[in-house]
Order: sequence, then structure tokens, then C-alpha cells
Amino acid sequence: MQFWKKYSSEKLAQKINEAVQNNVDFSTDISLGYPASKLDGNVFYDNAHFLKDAPLLKAFVANPNHIGCHTVGDSEHAFSGTHELEKEVLNVLAVDIFNSKPNEFDGYIATGGTEANIQALWVYRNYFKNTYNASFDEIAIISSEDTHYSIPKGSNLLGIPNISIPVDFETRLIDKTVLKNHIEIAKTNGKKYFIVVSNMATTMFGSVDDPDLFAEVLSDLEVKFKIHIDGAFGGFIYPFNKERQAIDFSNPHIDSITIDAHKMLQAPYGTGVFLSRKGLINNVLTKEAQYVNGMDLTLCGSRSGANALAVWMILFSYGPHRWFEKINILLMRTNWFCEHLDEMGIDYYRHPKMNIVTMKSEKISKKIEEKFDLVPETHDGNNKWYKVVIMDHVEINHLEDLLICIKKYWKEEQLVY
Ligand SMILES: *Cc1c(COP(=O)(O)O)cnc(C)c1O
Repeated sequence: MQFWKKYSSEKLAQKINEAVQNNVDFSTDISLGYPASKLDGNVFYDNAHFLKDAPLLKAFVANPNHIGCHTVGDSEHAFSGTHELEKEVLNVLAVDIFNSKPNEFDGYIATGGTEANIQALWVYRNYFKNTYNASFDEIAIISSEDTHYSIPKGSNLLGIPNISIPVDFETRLIDKTVLKNHIEIAKTNGKKYFIVVSNMATTMFGSVDDPDLFAEVLSDLEVKFKIHIDGAFGGFIYPFNKERQAIDFSNPHIDSITIDAHKMLQAPYGTGVFLSRKGLINNVLTKEAQYVNGMDLTLCGSRSGANALAVWMILFSYGPHRWFEKINILLMRTNWFCEHLDEMGIDYYRHPKMNIVTMKSEKISKKIEEKFDLVPETHDGNNKWYKVVIMDHVEINHLEDLLICIKKYWKEEQLVY
């Protein structure tokens, strides 16, 4: 761990205050050119006494703008203080968690996993165009059927098809022959360049794709490809498993990663993270963004700097060891739940190092779904799965209540028939 540390609450407050002080202060400094200011004073008092003890809220009221990408070129000087803390967050993620070498990556805190995923597709579409003069209809996205819907959304926006690869119903894994067949068909249809989205935990199952399987099949078929990892959900869980496959920048096939801080890290919404190997992001430079100092290489424009500070503060309040402990507590609760499902003979899918349990729907009634807010795989009346996500607030006693209800309902059902 080169960048990730645990700080005391005094140190956290001091670093946040310093960062904000190094930004423009709209209350005292002369700043005439930006269409920006602190938050509206009728609603957000910047001199409320409680803000003294709440550095993050104070930063929120100061309202820094983090527009642009701060790992490359120049950025808006008015907010350079808080940009530094965004860069620290990216260093922790890219270098300490995802094994990049320092300064060999670019990235930014996006609005969410959706934006970060679409940013990746956009970067690769333009990369193939800029590098190989590819036409858009020679490019295709490859992703599993369990992939998040932000990928079909991006496919639609960018005008390149998404080839959805079916997975095995029980293991949720892609079969090599099935993958090969799909790519061969795409090849005969004129596709030469492939953007792979490999999941580091799917939203519904927590299943993890093997990026090397994609790399092997695509290399064998002698086509050009780039691999993006969608770790929106799993990015703060899967890497903390010591026996894991290295799904990170130490794998030469992996060029970019999405991680959401507003899921497992419990940061405010608006904190998805996009990371990619150095230089790739330049493929989406918007030359027309002339009024922004530095380069705009991001899908969104203005974005809240307070969000970056919130992620920074969460990461540095835990440090790596306490984060590891926290994840392991959640995994222990997940183990407990799975052991009891086994005893009760309820079938489910679970990746052994993830905190999602997706149960087959046969023994689970609509009433139980509603009472416990279980999430079905589909709302179209043909649902086969319900998932439980063991988040911070999901404790053993809640899981126990669910098991009791399932058991009771199941007995009643059997009495009726
Ligand atoms: C949640 C999620 C997304 C989308 O993230 P948002 O932050 O909701 O935009 C993308 N991929 C996966 C795997 C997810 O779980």
C-alpha cells in the first residue's frame, strides 16, 4: 500500500480544510468569470456554527467543481486544492487496489457506474477508429447476458451492437465454445474489433467473468480487442479476497475498470470511478471544450468536488486493514446465510467471495418478496431468481427472519396441496 492510509478524524478534517482553502473562496476572493458560486445562501448558510465540526459539509457548501480529468494536463486552478484529494482517491484505487504503476493511469470520479462504463465504451470505440481507421460497423461489444443494462444503453448511444453471450443457468459462467461460436459469427458478419466487458461481479448474481477466457478466444481468432472490467458492484469487495484471480492492471489484457463508490463504500450518489491505462482516455478528447482550462476528456461536464472529498474521507477513515475487516464481516454473514439455505434445501447461486446470494424462486412467494424487499431477476412474470445483498445494514437477525418466513410459508404451501 503506497497511498492508502488510515487517518484520525482530526487529520481527516485538517486535510479537507486545507484542500478547500486552496480552492477559490467565493465569499472572500474576487472571481468574476465562472458561472459558479457557493451554494445558495438562503438555504445553505456558510457560517452556520455546526459547519466548524463538519469539514465535509463545509466543503459541500463551498461547492467546488471538478469538471474535467485531473490525471492529465492542466485543470481549473480555482479548484486545485480539492482536485488533489480526488487524485489521492484515484491513486489508492488504481495503484493500491488495482495494481497499476504510479502515474501510468488516467481516471476521474464520474456520476456513477453507468457513466464510467459508457466512458469506457466511448474510449474504445474511438481508439479503434483512431488507431485502425475502423468504421463503426466493424466494432462490436461482447458481454455476458448477466451484464448490467448500462452496457446495452451505451451500445445504443454509441451506435455499436452489443453481442450478448449466454451463461450457464447454474454456474452463471460463459462456456468457451459458446463464446467462440458467437465471435466467429460476428467475424463472418464483418466485425473486426471487439470491446469486451468482463464483470467483476454482476449486479444480480455477484458472478465473476474470467477476462482471460475472452482474451484467449479473441486472440485465437486473431481479432483486435480491448477488455474493460465492470467492477461497479464488486470493486470494493472482490480485490480483498487473497486467493483471487488478479482482475486488475497487472493483467496486460485489462485496460480499464469501473468501480462505484456509492454502492459498497456507502459514499453519496454521484461517485462512480473510471480508471484506464495512461493515454487511452485521450481518444475522447473534446477539442471544442475551449473554455475549460485543461482538457475535457470526460463524458459529464461539471461535477461536484464534494463527492470526491466524501470518497476520500471514507477511504482514509478506514485504511486498508479496517476495510478488509469490514468486508470479511459481510462475507461471514453471507456464509451464515448460505449454510442455513443449504440446511433448508433451498437452491441458490453464490460466488464464494461475494456478498450476494441469489435464490431460486420456487420456494419464495410474492408475499416474502414484498415483505423483505427481495429483488427479482425480472419483473416480467417469468422470474426464476431472487437476490439478497448482504450490505452493511443487513444483519444476521434480518436474515434469520427471512429464513423463518420462507420455512413457514413453505410448510403452509405443502399443507394446502
Ligand atoms: C450498479 C451497477 C452499474 C451501474 O451503476 P450506477 O452507479 O447505478 O450507474 C453498472 N454495473 C454494475 C455491475 C452494477 O452493479
